[in-house]
Amino acid sequence: MTNHIDIAIVGGGISGIYAAWRLQKQDPTRNIHLYELSDRIGGRLISLDPPEMQGIKAEFGGMRYLTNQPIVSNLVAELGLATRPFPVSGDENIYYLRGQHMRGSDLTDSKKIPYRLSWLERGKTPGELVMNAIDTLIPGATKLTKEQWQDVKENYTFQGKHLWELGWWNLLHQVMSSEAFKFILDAGGYDTLVTNWNAAEALPWYLADFGPDAQYRTIIDGMETLPRMVAKQFVDAGGNIHLGQRLNTFVKREDGQIELIFDDAPPVIAQHLILAMPRRSLELLDDDTEFLLHPTVRDLIPTVTPHPMFKLFLCYRYAWWQDAGVNNGRSVTDLPLRQVYYFGSEREGPAAYNQELRDSLVMASYDDGEHVGFWRGLADRGHSTTHCFPESAEPRWNRYTCPSAMIEHAQRQLKVVHDLEYLPDAYAAGFQDWGQDPYGGAWNSWNIHVKGWEVQEKMIQPLDEWPVYVIGEAYSGAQGWIEGALQTAETLLKTKF
Ligand SMILES: Cc1cc2nc3c(=O)[nH]c(=O)nc-3n(C[C@H](O)[C@H](O)[C@H](O)COP(=O)(O)OP(=O)(O)OC[C@H]3O[C@@H](n4cnc5c(N)ncnc54)[C@H](O)[C@@H]3O)c2cc1C
Repeated sequence: MTNHIDIAIVGGGISGIYAAWRLQKQDPTRNIHLYELSDRIGGRLISLDPPEMQGIKAEFGGMRYLTNQPIVSNLVAELGLATRPFPVSGDENIYYLRGQHMRGSDLTDSKKIPYRLSWLERGKTPGELVMNAIDTLIPGATKLTKEQWQDVKENYTFQGKHLWELGWWNLLHQVMSSEAFKFILDAGGYDTLVTNWNAAEALPWYLADFGPDAQYRTIIDGMETLPRMVAKQFVDAGGNIHLGQRLNTFVKREDGQIELIFDDAPPVIAQHLILAMPRRSLELLDDDTEFLLHPTVRDLIPTVTPHPMFKLFLCYRYAWWQDAGVNNGRSVTDLPLRQVYYFGSEREGPAAYNQELRDSLVMASYDDGEHVGFWRGLADRGHSTTHCFPESAEPRWNRYTCPSAMIEHAQRQLKVVHDLEYLPDAYAAGFQDWGQDPYGGAWNSWNIHVKGWEVQEKMIQPLDEWPVYVIGEAYSGAQGWIEGALQTAETLLKTKF
């Protein structure tokens, strides 16, 4: 039997579920259905309860938002979700780079850092070096308004070329010494942020993150609560969610409606189709999908590059890192671990009152770029956490469990980073490789030679004659952020519905 509906949304990440809810709220008589291939709503937001731990969430995907991101901040407030600050770097945090230990407070001491910075670069943190570079490229950049930035993106030239024709990595190499570049790369913790992505997008992206009014916060019950709460509101408003349904392809019928073909479910005919998914997921739809073969769409889809990222969590009976003088925030290394985040100790349950023995969680590795390959090599063959587990009664954590070799490598590197001879055994471990299908990456970046602002607009409805829309983080103005995913959903609502 074929279902006839008003709006089909495919993809149950934050962009899809948010658009579904807003559209349903706008007009409760609409017949709206959301289809998601996995057995959960949330996509790249996954908050898990570590085994035997209470009151602490392991964030396998997005873990924080910035208070200067209006849509996500307002959504969190509207849903009444309790939040807390998300500390990142403090003076006590460890930097283990080029075989040398430093604290956060040492980064501005040129005698303590193993990088031969130029005279003027000395005494600056990696963040300040990036800010200086941006200010050299565009004097006064840190003070520009949103509108002025748009003008810069479109018209500003550096050495005769528009910013969108230039690569961020190339530019950084022109305005800082190669040692300073290595320093910001190693101490920054992320490799893919300083790759050669579109400079017109990379510059304001950096400023938003490092800007003076930017503060990180997180949702106490887990970032996944956000899409879950939105999903509840959508269903309460009359919306329908179908899990475990993979869209295979879709066609336009003679009457202009869209017929959706799923792997193992009857087809659906919809007046509108919203594809709320990143580049890789679009590319995984059937090769013969006429919409995707259209030259306009074929040009638009590869305008961004997905970047895999990897997260590894270890659970311990106590917070051993306090022996190394660190309590929260993150430590950074150039070893394959790259970033270590101290998620903390149990806050609830009987153990919360025993300061010495509280089960404690560390994100032992948060890495990207070539380091993902290091950890991927230790995963079991065919490992996947993203396919559907329909009837599974097992705790969700179990699908992320680490092989022992991965834990051993992590333990060895943690000892080195913290300069500790002894580390207790981890009693549980979990990991997530975001290079897996259907994601292909944790975040997407605009490619050089692409006018990101134009593609963003076009992606909302790539072909006038097809009522098919594309939303989500990948083709947004805030890539790598929930805010970006929500921005595209808002634009869709404002311009098409
Ligand atoms: C490791 C990591 C760290 C991050 N850190 C942060 C952070 O700290 N703060 C922040 O704001 N953001 C962060 N992000 C980014 C943020 O999580 C994403 O921007 C956001 O969740 C993306 O939402 P989306 O709706 O665009 O896409 P997704 O969440 O990718 O949703 C797409 C959905 O489509 C489904 N799908 C794909 N193909 C099909 C198909 N054929 N049929 C049916 N369903 C399909 C997928 O299963 C998925 O559920 C991080 C992401 C990762 C992975």
